[in-house]
Amino acid sequence: MSIENNVAAIKAQMRAAAIACGRNPDEVLLCAATKMNDAEAVRRAIAAGVDCCGENRVQELTQKLSENAYEGVPVHFIGHLQTNKVRQVVGKVSLIQSVDRPKLLACIQEEAARQGICQDILLEINIGNEESKSGFATRDILPLLEKISDFPNVRVKGLMCIPPICQNSGDNAKFFQEIRNLAVDITAKKYDNVSMGIVSMGMSDDYQSAIACGSTMIRVGTAIFGARDYSK
Ligand SMILES: *Cc1c(COP(=O)(O)O)cnc(C)c1O
Repeated sequence: MSIENNVAAIKAQMRAAAIACGRNPDEVLLCAATKMNDAEAVRRAIAAGVDCCGENRVQELTQKLSENAYEGVPVHFIGHLQTNKVRQVVGKVSLIQSVDRPKLLACIQEEAARQGICQDILLEINIGNEESKSGFATRDILPLLEKISDFPNVRVKGLMCIPPICQNSGDNAKFFQEIRNLAVDITAKKYDNVSMGIVSMGMSDDYQSAIACGSTMIRVGTAIFGARDYSK
C-alpha cells in the first residue's frame, strides 16, 4: 500500500470509530509519527492529509526542518527529550508532547523565557507505571499543576500517553479511559494556563480503541509509512 492509500484508509477508519461512539470525527486529529522516514515520505503524508507531524529524535527534527519537510502542517516533538537538547526543540516545534519529568519542564521553561516565547506542551503520563518508560505518575500530576504558575513560559495543552504493549488492541482501553478521566479531573480544577484540549493517545495498533475512549489526537507511524527498517 502507498502512503497516500494508507492515510486515506486511516482517516476513513478514524471517522468510523468516532461516529460509532457518537463523537464528532473532526475533533480527532491524525499526527504522523515520522521517525526514520525521510523528507520525501513526510511530504507525501502531508499532501495526503495528515494534520501534523511528530518527530522523535532531535537530529532528525533538525535535519527535516532544514529540508522544509513539514511545510504545510505543524510539527510536534514526541520522543524522549534530553535536557541538553532542549534548545534545539523549544520554539522550533508548535507542541512538545513528551514532557515526562519535572527537570525537563524546568529546562523548557528556562529556554522559552530566554527566547521570550510561550511553549505549548503536553504532559506525558506513564499510564502503565512501567519501569522502562518515562512519564509522570498519575498521582503526581495534580500536585504539579498546583505549581504550574512557576512555569509562566509554558502552556499545558493536554496529556499524552504510550500504554503498555498489549496482545489485543482492546486491552489498552482501561488505560485510555484512565487518561480521559484524568483530563476531565484537571479541566474541572480550572488551573490558570492549563487546558485539556489535546488528549494524545492511540498508535497504529490501537487507535480505534483510543478514539472510543476520548482521544483527540492519534500518533501513527507504521500504518502510514510501513514497518521501520532498524537495520539501516
Ligand atoms: C513511533 C511512535 C508512534 C507511532 O507508532 P506506530 O506503532 O508506528 O504507529 C507514536 N508515538 C510515539 C511517541 C512514537 O515514538
